Amino acid sequence: MLQYLVILLDDTSAAYCHADNPLKEHNLMPIETLKKGILFGMKQNLMIQYVFPDCGTRDYELPKEYAEVIESIDNVKIYPTGCKPVTGIEDGNETDVEVANEVPEKVEAKNLVLRLPFGKMLKQKDEIAKLFASGVRINLCITDVEQFTDGQIEAYKQLLEEWNGVLLGLYKQGLSPQFNLLTDRMMLKEMHNCEAGVSNITLAPNGKFYLCPAFYYDERMQVFNQLNHHQPSSDHSVGDLEKGLNIPNPQLLRLDHAPLCRNCDAYQCRRCLWLNRKLTWDINTPSHQQCVMAHIERNASRALLNDIRKVGEFMPEIDIKEINYLDPFEVRKEF
Ligand code: SF4
Repeated sequence: MLQYLVILLDDTSAAYCHADNPLKEHNLMPIETLKKGILFGMKQNLMIQYVFPDCGTRDYELPKEYAEVIESIDNVKIYPTGCKPVTGIEDGNETDVEVANEVPEKVEAKNLVLRLPFGKMLKQKDEIAKLFASGVRINLCITDVEQFTDGQIEAYKQLLEEWNGVLLGLYKQGLSPQFNLLTDRMMLKEMHNCEAGVSNITLAPNGKFYLCPAFYYDERMQVFNQLNHHQPSSDHSVGDLEKGLNIPNPQLLRLDHAPLCRNCDAYQCRRCLWLNRKLTWDINTPSHQQCVMAHIERNASRALLNDIRKVGEFMPEIDIKEINYLDPFEVRKEF
């Protein structure tokens, strides 16, 4: 069931997940489109998540009349670090999200999405670890998953083991750090994935809907839509504000129609449909890279859970089993 409407206020709205936003020219959503989008969200009882543009050197701000429209409904704001939106409600919201492409020195929001390529994450591991004690929820998003190789498995395992040591120290001090790659799986009893096109949908500045912002970027960059087998096209939209949503074969977006994922217990995995489509040309089939990385995180979470339990009782209802594979595709015949 749809729960969230993501509204990209501008072409340069912050990329907050795996896909980079290649669009560099401002193209603001017309205010009438914004109003219609909000009305669509209200009618469907959706929580609005606004994604704000890059403000550069603070020389770009949304026109004043947008502030009133933006605040006409409860919302969550997703904004680039250093570009906290000025809308008249500056206290922010516990669920607002700041997005950084470098390890920030200061985080204003309670939630940080830190987007880094794998190599940079390794190099900046100590700076990243310092954020664990900040009281901010850290969502680290690796931006070059497609380039991950089996030769990097040991490096990733070692990195997460090192971070586990830092997190364990914080738990011993009575703190509750939140770091998506290592602490989420310890808390989950079922899949908690992105659910693009299932629980959330994105409205772009052109008034059209997309499964997520990445599909809008692809359309603007004229990336061929492999899902459309009938007519070669780079149209990735799934409806518009005039005609409503029109998602072809929506069941293929759901977990119960993903043969590998529905048998998997890497519950913290994003299960990114955009990466699925990019890397396997199949929206409900993940790539080897996605699964291996998610399983290294799952196994490291298991190790952290076991270490915390040596100190005291912790999440007794959670059981993460020991497994001997990193890619469910290797054991598919056992499903
Ligand atoms: S690890 Fe692989 S199989 Fe498991 S949920 Fe993630 S993408 Fe799906």
